[in-house]
Amino acid sequence: MFRLRIEDHFDASHSIPGHAGKCRNLHGHTYKVEVFVTGQTTDSNGILENSDFIELKSGLRSCLSEFDHNHLNNILGNNATAENVSKILFHKLEDKGIKNLERVRVWESQNQYAEYWKDNEGK
Ligand SMILES: [Zn+2]
Repeated sequence: MFRLRIEDHFDASHSIPGHAGKCRNLHGHTYKVEVFVTGQTTDSNGILENSDFIELKSGLRSCLSEFDHNHLNNILGNNATAENVSKILFHKLEDKGIKNLERVRVWESQNQYAEYWKDNEGK
């Protein structure tokens, strides 16, 4: 198996009104996003079949442009968590035609991230 990984960043604000702690207050993060794709075969150029770093990076950049310097609650409602950012990014990347998508990891800080991937039932 092969695995490719790219990363990019965006800045955004959010608040989690239902959170018991200080995350209920308006605050911001510089989010780091990692995207992983996997596959079993390479093409005649040695590039993972149906995947390419250039396409991956431009696809992710395009998806993140909606989030960058925005208020995430305006996009995701009041559950603008890293979990939901990772899920919506996964589906946006799929909608852009990114193949072999394995998982999307969203870091809110250097110490914590949330990931989304599809389980065996495709959820
Ligand atoms: Zn936060």
